[in-house]
Amino acid sequence: MSAGRSEPNCDASLAVRGFTHTTLAARVVFGAGVLDDLPREIELLGLRRLLLLSTPGQRGLAERTGVVLQSKCAGIFSGAVTHVPVECAQQAVSAARAAGADGLVALGGGSTIGVAKAIALQTNLPIVAVPTTYAGSEMTPIYGLTEAGVKRTGRDTRVLPRTVLYDPLLSQHLPARTSAASGMNAIAHAVEGLYGEDTNPIAQMLAEAAIRALAPGLRVVIDTLDDLPARCRCLYGGWLCGLVLGSVSMGLHHKLCHTLGGSFNLPHAETHSILLTHVAAYNTPAAPAAMRCVAAALGTEDAAQGLFDLVRQLGLPLSLRDLGMRETDLDLAAELATRAAYANPRPVTRAAIRLLLDDAFFGRAPRRE
Ligand code: NAD
Repeated sequence: MSAGRSEPNCDASLAVRGFTHTTLAARVVFGAGVLDDLPREIELLGLRRLLLLSTPGQRGLAERTGVVLQSKCAGIFSGAVTHVPVECAQQAVSAARAAGADGLVALGGGSTIGVAKAIALQTNLPIVAVPTTYAGSEMTPIYGLTEAGVKRTGRDTRVLPRTVLYDPLLSQHLPARTSAASGMNAIAHAVEGLYGEDTNPIAQMLAEAAIRALAPGLRVVIDTLDDLPARCRCLYGGWLCGLVLGSVSMGLHHKLCHTLGGSFNLPHAETHSILLTHVAAYNTPAAPAAMRCVAAALGTEDAAQGLFDLVRQLGLPLSLRDLGMRETDLDLAAELATRAAYANPRPVTRAAIRLLLDDAFFGRAPRRE
């Protein structure tokens, strides 16, 4: 899947410093048409009564899957909502209990998989995930719940899916903009995974391979939604990015996205794609090896500029202004994002973040230091 490799990019000093890597166990079945293997995979897990989960928009997929599972389909919950409001989580838990489910099948993107995780957290039910975007949640033990507009996240291995079926045929109808935004969201996991405080050579290898697969794949699918080889590359890259997110702590970029998404109600994936360029520029002086790796994977000289160009080529918005953010909120955003300390290769100051947000607000090219 990877394009030609020009130089080794892993941070060699890591091996000298030492590192920890935890391999999270999940069975992965990848390939065009593997949704047909779902009955066999469920059999392997010894499951008999599955609750199928989807968003309202993907209910058709859940219904078709229910027909294939026959009597093992114990019900469908198609009310998955982004960022998993607690009310939605509670309804889903009730649906699982009412159906007498012994397992969950999540068919969709991060929102649907998020609802499956919320159920698993309360019930211990095993999850089989069938991801249809590139967000990568299916590979992580991270869950998120939103209460009164505030999203809290946590880690718990009970929410990690047992089996994941990656079927690129299912993403062939993912609209161009959603494909691109969810792909950039995935690339953000890879970029931050390269310099996270607990990064390791395995995560770095995955991150680089992920960017090499995703970036060219995305450039194709935005024009030709049903290009199967390109969809395969994207889904493969999304998988690897999810593995990175599951094993390395994220830094400034994720903190900013979390703050802007939560406090100013900005769309999740688009916010990622706009900010990533500017965070990469900010962190470049402090994480040169990671940024060389990103640049090489993108086939450019400079990581931040390469990410900016990619966002532009994918036709995604370049400015927070275009997402509906108000300029008068930038001071508060910088304040909120720097209230608590968190790990980042370059120390984070309020003034620096305010400048970064200004660039992101107006959609400027990345700043060079
Ligand atoms: P999403 O799941 O919200 O899906 C976006 C829209 O696309 C939905 O309307 C959905 O119905 C539709 N859709 C999905 N797949 C489709 C397909 N193949 N064809 C047509 N339509 C399709 O978007 P997402 O970006 O996958 O997930 C975002 C959510 O996931 C956020 O809440 C984010 O916080 C969360 N997330 C969690 C983790 C984690 O590790 N916990 C990781 C990444 C993202």
